[in-house]
Amino acid sequence: MAKEYDLVILGGGTGGYVAAIRASQLGLKTAVVEKGKLGGTCLHAGCIPSKALLRSAEVYAQTKNSEAFGVIASDVRLDFAKVQARKSAIVEQLYKGVRHLMKKGKIDVYAGFGRILGPSIFSPMPGTISVEMNDGTENEMLVPKNVIIATGSRPRTLPGLEIDGEFVITSDEALQMETLPSSIIIVGGGAIGIEWASMLNDFGVEVTVLEYADRILPSEDRDVSKEVEKLLKRRGITVMTEAKVLPETLEKGSGVTIRAEHQGEQKTFTAEKMLVCIGRQANIEGIGLENTDIVIENGVIQTNEFYQTKEPHIYAIGDVIGGLQLAHVASHEGIVAVEHIVGQNPFPIDYTMVSKCVYSRPEVASVGLTEEEAKAKGYEVKVGKFPFKAIGKALVFGEAEGFVKIVADQKTNDLLGVHMVGPHVTDMISEAGLARVLDATPWEVAHAIHPHPTLSEAMAEAALAVDGNAIHF
Ligand SMILES: Cc1cc2nc3c(=O)[nH]c(=O)nc-3n(C[C@H](O)[C@H](O)[C@H](O)COP(=O)(O)OP(=O)(O)OC[C@H]3O[C@@H](n4cnc5c(N)ncnc54)[C@H](O)[C@@H]3O)c2cc1C
Repeated sequence: MAKEYDLVILGGGTGGYVAAIRASQLGLKTAVVEKGKLGGTCLHAGCIPSKALLRSAEVYAQTKNSEAFGVIASDVRLDFAKVQARKSAIVEQLYKGVRHLMKKGKIDVYAGFGRILGPSIFSPMPGTISVEMNDGTENEMLVPKNVIIATGSRPRTLPGLEIDGEFVITSDEALQMETLPSSIIIVGGGAIGIEWASMLNDFGVEVTVLEYADRILPSEDRDVSKEVEKLLKRRGITVMTEAKVLPETLEKGSGVTIRAEHQGEQKTFTAEKMLVCIGRQANIEGIGLENTDIVIENGVIQTNEFYQTKEPHIYAIGDVIGGLQLAHVASHEGIVAVEHIVGQNPFPIDYTMVSKCVYSRPEVASVGLTEEEAKAKGYEVKVGKFPFKAIGKALVFGEAEGFVKIVADQKTNDLLGVHMVGPHVTDMISEAGLARVLDATPWEVAHAIHPHPTLSEAMAEAALAVDGNAIHF
């Protein structure tokens, strides 16, 4: 029997389940269809498990180097099974939390694969959802007034670098490793590749990063990329930029060997495993898009600023629409979509106000335009930069590398972008995000008196540095 809903959400990842909670708050009768586990990539194969492993790696590296703090630790060893168990326990706790939130919001959850049907006996419009239930019971038929597609994405690979789960892996398999390899080639120096490079190096793995662009973290400010590359190399990580991996040269035996073209020469790389981190592709297959007028371009669903597709009652959010493929973006898009469905007047998201973070050591965080982007857009820019080595708290932490860089508009004093590399900057960037939302000038940022000693002083000093007034450098 068909069941009627105000809203059915296809996919219960960060985008989908947050949208469901907002819909329930606004009084919509809501269902979520999830083929795997509520929480999606972020909770089970992304943000949370990767950060749990990164934290263990950081503790391990720090303990090995604790003598610098006057703490003598002997026989420091890694129990990787415990590292994985800790990660799984954190994921399980949060998973329980998400399931509880669904119950609390009286949101129906269907465990199965959902597919959008065209006009049918249930509805003259496309949008009825047929759910092939995981437990093999008869398909459920859901008839919603509105649909949100939040089916997320999966790792991309290159033809010739097929994932075999043993020698050639993606972050999905890497997160499940039972033992660490002695060496690894990471193809791709974006956020995910660099997090893995940092983590595996801290765990004692020999790491080589091969990046096609002329720098790692190519979407970050050029100064940030340069600083991270320098610091990773100092830790013994091999970083090759402008390196074009040649998939056809891949050989597998006791490990992997591959060649890459670098500055006109072919170089050979060998390691126990290869981790492919070259981006993610949207999950648009098999979900019945052909039964609708929904438009796909460059492999992602096209929407307007309120996330409506060409079918006005069918919305799409999160990784499946491309753009900034981040968890907080997916969930915020879900909230905007739901508020639009109920006729509220949500603000469209300004993506230049979204903070982006990389949880490597050192961490990287940014919001707004890079210096290059600002110049390309025609701004006359002024830049303030302040190093962590002049911040007392950074020295106390024993992590005094990196800087805060602020890009401002020479004419209007507007804060165009903030770029950070250094200790705990992923927790510091929200101040810059708020400053962007409130349209604060660097002077206003510095005028908010920052407590001493804190890492946040670097933000205030960088704001002063924009007009040449930094105090401590
Ligand atoms: C290793 C890694 C680390 C990351 N770290 C971070 C980070 O630190 N911070 C950050 O912001 N982002 C991070 N991300 C990105 C983040 O995980 C994604 O941006 C986010 O999960 C996108 O949410 P989503 O809801 O769009 O999709 P997903 O989380 O992918 O959820 C989609 C859900 O839809 C389900 N589904 C798909 N098709 C169907 C169907 N037909 N029927 C039913 N269910 C279906 C899937 O099973 C899945 O649960 C990371 C990603 C990876 C891979």
